[in-house]
Amino acid sequence: MYLVLLLPHFQSIILKKRIAILGSTGSIGTQALEVIAKQKEFFELEVITANSNSKLLIQQANKYQPATVVIADKSKYTEVKEALSSLPVKVFAGAESLEQVVQSDEIDVVLTAMVGYAGLLPTIKAIQAKKHIALANKETLVVAGRLITEMAHENKVALLPVDSEHSAIFQCLAGEHFNPIEKIYLTASGGPFRGKTKEFLKTVTHEQALKHPNWTMGAKITIDSATMMNKGLEMIEARWLFNLDISQIDVIVHPQSVIHSIVQFEDGSMKAQMGLPDMKLPIQYALAYPQRLKSDFPRFDFLKYPDLTFEKPDKEVFRSLLLAEHAMKKDGNLPCIMNAANEIAVGAFLERKLDFHRITDLTEQCMEHIHFIENPNLNDLVETDTETRQYAEVLLSKKSNFA
Ligand code: NAD
Ligand code: MG
Repeated sequence: MYLVLLLPHFQSIILKKRIAILGSTGSIGTQALEVIAKQKEFFELEVITANSNSKLLIQQANKYQPATVVIADKSKYTEVKEALSSLPVKVFAGAESLEQVVQSDEIDVVLTAMVGYAGLLPTIKAIQAKKHIALANKETLVVAGRLITEMAHENKVALLPVDSEHSAIFQCLAGEHFNPIEKIYLTASGGPFRGKTKEFLKTVTHEQALKHPNWTMGAKITIDSATMMNKGLEMIEARWLFNLDISQIDVIVHPQSVIHSIVQFEDGSMKAQMGLPDMKLPIQYALAYPQRLKSDFPRFDFLKYPDLTFEKPDKEVFRSLLLAEHAMKKDGNLPCIMNAANEIAVGAFLERKLDFHRITDLTEQCMEHIHFIENPNLNDLVETDTETRQYAEVLLSKKSNFA
């Protein structure tokens, strides 16, 4: 036990950590590249991957010089390969390559910064190859939390949270190994529609929903924040990361996003982690764990935030929180159904095929319809995801319900 605890520390002092970033062209991915470039003494960039943004992937390969590049979209392979022909970089394409590349002996930590269910299989392959996981891709834990945490335990790999709330809890738990958690409070900004009514949500435009008050993030998580499904997903993520019972997880709206989350211990003491809303800090903490690396990130100034305020989440208006609580209680394949339906609904909203307030309705209808499995294996989850997506598309095509 002692040796295992010391090992990551030992490694981080003596050797550079070799990093693979899945989803380097996204919001988390681009920030991770900046973190790694500033901490060259500690990190070596091995792999970067993208779905289809070949232009940015090529720029990143030129600038950050990784050993390997993967583009999931096979039709972009020739473009990427030719553009990088003068560099000593291996280029691969396709989803299978993503799953293979994470198993390389040249990697210590895989940062899962891709969005959605697509992160599941590469994360599983990386765990099986005994890579530590810096986990940004929360959908993976929502879909298959039990399976992933058991697998991580069996393979003795760490799941290091990148999500700011979970990083906060993880940081509060440092040095508290033998002290049980009584409760955690996940803080939520409340999103752009905090304080609004159900009626208002029916009028929401794209521009309004894509404008988060405190964070600049990818489109999917920005919409999840506006519906508050993001906090629902994070409750499930927290449950698995910290082995909690549902009754130990609470959500509190904190519009300033300065306190990133709170742990309450059995003596009543509460520890909170705070700082400016900046994802580079949790990214760096996960990659460098257990070290804290000196950084030049902007520092917090109390006098610029004289009021830190707290409110109850409005679950009548933001019903996605109720859906997530229900999915968490019932468990089985229900969180997987909820996630797949939500991904389709958010995608349809972004393509202007679905009104904002219908995102939750569509998700709920899928949760009611798709057949429940109490103890799903990986195959069941893969099938549940496919079946839910198909059903959600059928619902979307019934214009009378969802136009
Ligand atoms: P994003 O949309 O900005 O980027 C997603 C990345 O994933 C891109 O590089 C894209 O090329 C890649 N990708 C998408 N689909 C893929 C597929 N099918 N196959 C391979 N690659 C694919 O997303 P983001 O905002 O960076 O979020 C990434 C993950 O991190 C999400 O799970 C999100 O919930 C989580 N997260 C993000 C933030 C944030 O501040 N952005 C904060 C906390 C957690
Ligand atoms: Mg978060």
